Amino acid sequence: MSVETTAKEKKQKKSRMQMPEQPPQVRARNFLEVPTGYTPEMAREEASRCLQCKNPGCVEGCPVGVDIPGFIKLIHEGEFTQSIRHIWTMNSLPAVCGRVCPQEIQCEGKCILAKKGEPVAIGNLERFAADWERAHGTGALPPKAAASGKKVAVVGAGPAGLTVAGDLIQKGHDVTVFEAFHKPGGVLLYGIPEFRLPKEIVAQEVNFLERLGVKVECNAVVGRTVTLDELFAQGFQAIFLGVGAGLPKFMNIPGENLVGILSANEYLTRANLMKAYLFPKVDTPIPRGKEVVVLGGGNVAMDSARTALRLGADRVRLVYRRSREEMPARAAEAHHAEEEGIEFFLLTNPVRYLGNEKGRLTGMECIKMELGEPDASGRRRPVAVKGSEFKIDCDLCIVAVGTGANPLLTSSTPDLKLNKWGYIDTDPKTGKTRKKGVWAGGDIVTGSATVILAMGAGRGAANSIHDYLNYGW
Ligand SMILES: Cc1cc2nc3c(=O)[nH]c(=O)nc-3n(C[C@H](O)[C@H](O)[C@H](O)COP(=O)(O)OP(=O)(O)OC[C@H]3O[C@@H](n4cnc5c(N)ncnc54)[C@H](O)[C@@H]3O)c2cc1C
Ligand code: SF4
Repeated sequence: MSVETTAKEKKQKKSRMQMPEQPPQVRARNFLEVPTGYTPEMAREEASRCLQCKNPGCVEGCPVGVDIPGFIKLIHEGEFTQSIRHIWTMNSLPAVCGRVCPQEIQCEGKCILAKKGEPVAIGNLERFAADWERAHGTGALPPKAAASGKKVAVVGAGPAGLTVAGDLIQKGHDVTVFEAFHKPGGVLLYGIPEFRLPKEIVAQEVNFLERLGVKVECNAVVGRTVTLDELFAQGFQAIFLGVGAGLPKFMNIPGENLVGILSANEYLTRANLMKAYLFPKVDTPIPRGKEVVVLGGGNVAMDSARTALRLGADRVRLVYRRSREEMPARAAEAHHAEEEGIEFFLLTNPVRYLGNEKGRLTGMECIKMELGEPDASGRRRPVAVKGSEFKIDCDLCIVAVGTGANPLLTSSTPDLKLNKWGYIDTDPKTGKTRKKGVWAGGDIVTGSATVILAMGAGRGAANSIHDYLNYGW
């Protein structure tokens, strides 16, 4: 056996460095971040597991193509500042991605070590490098191309828009981001709760872009306060639309107008963006149920359920019509939720809401489901089991069964072509829409997806916009 093979086998046998976490009973009642981060020693130890593959599967699995072995090697060598600088050339939001990307199905899912054991903790290492820079960095910025004199407007300050802004500013263009809310960040700010992604981290990633020269104009609802054609008339030569897909969907079952039923979107926006979680310091009103039911099985449902628990609920139940296997939430989030005491009612669907004479929610009638043949999504279709109805008591129901495209901007721009679901039709490679000079990407094109897919779309569009500014449409 060669010396090299032995070293490789040794690395494969090392177990993955677990990131310390707040204990479930403690964290279920506070909004502090759940995993507390690696120490430098832990990070170097975990980085030492990487085999530095010649054809790394991890990079193939990353929608923005981060040079993963490259930044891990720098961490292993203790060159933390170099590591983050290397990541920045490929990803402007590393502290965010390290925390919320579904690594298990992307980079880590493709890591060679996953074949025989545990993959390298790529997300944890990326988070470590970004957190190290925040705590100890010099604040020095990556190099930037000379000013091109070309102006680009980005509509929406979510991960798609921020990626476009970060890429184009580094290519020397003059970039302004228009955001409808009073703060930039998109779902990173108003959707994903503090205990998974502290707001301060989002603010610092945005601040990094601002220091690079990106201008951010908040409270600017494009389509209402200004149209796309007016932006062109103001001298912007290209426009990127990254307006997300935040229009909540409801169950459309009897009783939906009772007091005590609200969308996850509204609930999480009140809790996060409007800081209801800081009560009594901030007095944003938010319904605080004692017996809460959350409908859905995705990340949004998990975030709502865990937020309700932290806002003082005695009992939180999550009602999902398929089985655990089909749950779209990240495995780690479902695991954390269960550890904290969220009860999963799987293969269960609500049929109608129940209320009292005052019009307040008191419970819901549900029916048991079983899995039938696969549907269009490839997942087995849930079918109601006749006669299996039962009641659940609750005083608050948070509906997290999906979102759709908000028509506000698209309805004021009739020359954008939409698909049958109301999402913007684009060239999948470049992100070009049917309107000259306009690109789109992220959830407004794909429907609700992930942070990194939105960023990948932003990266593709930024490259195409750069080509357009140099060579035309
Ligand atoms: C609660 C929740 C939890 C999630 N958890 C995860 C997770 O753990 N991991 C993961 O990868 N993904 C997660 N996602 C999905 C992920 O956040 C989204 O896929 C991603 O944010 C989409 O990015 P985007 O830039 O396309 O849109 P968004 O993040 O939605 O940003 C769009 C921005 O555009 C602004 N805007 C809209 N209309 C206008 C207008 N007319 N003018 C100006 N601005 C406008 C909005 O205010 C918003 O700031 C989660 C989503 C939610 C809701
Ligand atoms: S696939 Fe895994 S082991 Fe290979 S370079 Fe990537 S992270 Fe390292």
